[in-house]
Amino acid sequence: IGFVRERDPEVGAAMEREMGRLRGNIELIASENVVSPAVMAAMGSILTNKYAEGYPGHRYYGGCQFVDEVEELARKRACELFGADHANVQPHSGAQANLAVYFALLQPGDTVLGMNLSHGGHLTHGSPVNMSGKYFRFVPYGVDADGFLDYDALRELALAEKPKLIVAGASAYARTIDFARISEIAKEAGCLFMVDMAHIAGLVAAGLHPSPVPYADVVTTTTHKTLRGPRGGMILCKEQYAKAIDKAIFPGTQGGPLMHVIAGKAVCFGEALAPEFKEYQRRIVENAKALSEALLAKGVHLVSGGTDNHLMTVDLRGTGVTGKQLEARLDEVNITANKNTVPNDPEKPTVTSGVRIGTPAVTTRGFGVAEMEEIAGFIADCVFDFESKKEHIKAGVASLTARFPLYE
Ligand code: PLP
Repeated sequence: IGFVRERDPEVGAAMEREMGRLRGNIELIASENVVSPAVMAAMGSILTNKYAEGYPGHRYYGGCQFVDEVEELARKRACELFGADHANVQPHSGAQANLAVYFALLQPGDTVLGMNLSHGGHLTHGSPVNMSGKYFRFVPYGVDADGFLDYDALRELALAEKPKLIVAGASAYARTIDFARISEIAKEAGCLFMVDMAHIAGLVAAGLHPSPVPYADVVTTTTHKTLRGPRGGMILCKEQYAKAIDKAIFPGTQGGPLMHVIAGKAVCFGEALAPEFKEYQRRIVENAKALSEALLAKGVHLVSGGTDNHLMTVDLRGTGVTGKQLEARLDEVNITANKNTVPNDPEKPTVTSGVRIGTPAVTTRGFGVAEMEEIAGFIADCVFDFESKKEHIKAGVASLTARFPLYE
């Protein structure tokens, strides 16, 4: 940052303030993490200079022999990590990965089942404001009254709608997803099955969530959430779809790949193959469980009453506080989280009745179960007794973050 600051004081100063925020705040956004210095260095490297349209051994530019090595390493490690036949590591983001799969497998207007955004799904799973919802006929499925995926209703919907594709995966779903069961439904309905495992990819890599890879025709993911890699996307698929998927990324929907980010992905997959990564993922889940139990004990409700993975959604209905308000209160005391709809939310998506919280970033930082209990106290006070406790919480957050240095 100092280097940037010397050459560009305006950008450098903003980066410095962001570093201060990271150090002084408790980061509970479930989709964020803190990458290793090696991943960071690969991203900020000379590889950003190289154009490499195409794939290793088949490029549209000269001088690609060394970036070919990098991309081969990323592809090979991804296949090893997830037990996949084929990996495409070029998607610039999770949204790009999903778009390319739709482009490869569907025709405009085809029917697709995707998880309802307000039940925890993602924009790219058929929201009407997203290209997925505009170009394809997405029909939403969701959770039951207890907040668990309703597999029976999904089966009925699939048999009635006869979709071309079922998309599973979520952005705010705290429970284990039964991919085997959804693949049976897809088989019965005679359609393809895609899983977007963006949120849980790290847990899947560590064997802490059942893998979708044996069950799904195609699996997409981001690389920057629990997986703790660079911001980006990836597609895994069975050999029979490899050509179509590769063509859908390039030349279908993208141009030149970001070779510096692909290098970061290769480094991330290398880290994820090491034994320490399993232990890191185990601690993410342990922390989420501890945080959820401590919140429940303090009278804070959670969608589905708990969590099996790295995240949970606080259900604020009946407290008189909206998701938007709680997000702002948490911000005021230097805790970062995001408002989120709860299933059948009475509030607008810009207000919401929920806040999503996750443990990947704080676990990387070294927080454990004792810190989760402290954080649960901060959150409960923000919900129930904000004005009188505000300064006290702020001081607690400052003392907690000071005990866990970041990037020093
Ligand atoms: N898929 C899921 C399930 C996600 O949660 C997200 C991001 O939050 C995405 C896809 C999109 O990823 P990106 O922001 O990299 O486009």
